[in-house]
Amino acid sequence: SRALTRAESLIAETPDYPEPGVLFRDISPVLVDAAALGAVTEAMIAPFAGTFDVVAGIEARGFLLAGTIVATAGVGTLPIRKAGKLPNPAASIEYHLEYGSAAIEAPGVLPSGARVLLVDDILATGGTLGASRKLIAELGGEVVGASVVLALDELGGERVAGPVHSPFHA
Ligand code: 5GP
Repeated sequence: SRALTRAESLIAETPDYPEPGVLFRDISPVLVDAAALGAVTEAMIAPFAGTFDVVAGIEARGFLLAGTIVATAGVGTLPIRKAGKLPNPAASIEYHLEYGSAAIEAPGVLPSGARVLLVDDILATGGTLGASRKLIAELGGEVVGASVVLALDELGGERVAGPVHSPFHA
């Protein structure tokens, strides 16, 4: 659709951030545009219609995408948090970054057997989504798929994250 094509052109690129040689992408211009946001979230969930009960958004832009999806898909949402934000996380998964490590956590609110769609803004190395899959499994949920706005294909993130759907590729 025209809105989807325009949405792709709205993704902002900043060279050499956060370090030299990295092209940083920002989807904020898509979030602020109602037509673009609607088209992108619709494309993100199209292959998964009717297959999920909960959309799990990864902090922080994943929360905004998940909130938009919830409003149209009639499902609930689970926030996947960066470590250290929850008083009593039900599960915590550590994963490797280029330098050092990170961890994600979630509250113990997911109904057993819930069918979960993971969403985030960008797939890079796949570490975050790979850890999110393990987190949902540990919580007793079933991951039916993962969807992002933009997949950075040359980084090969699906090797770590498993299959990831996205309307846009770079
Ligand atoms: P990964 O774990 O796949 O290497 O990295 C994905 C995570 O890092 C996502 O949560 C994503 O928001 C963030 N990330 C990686 N590259 C970029 C980028 O170019 N722009 C933005 N905004 N986030 C990025």
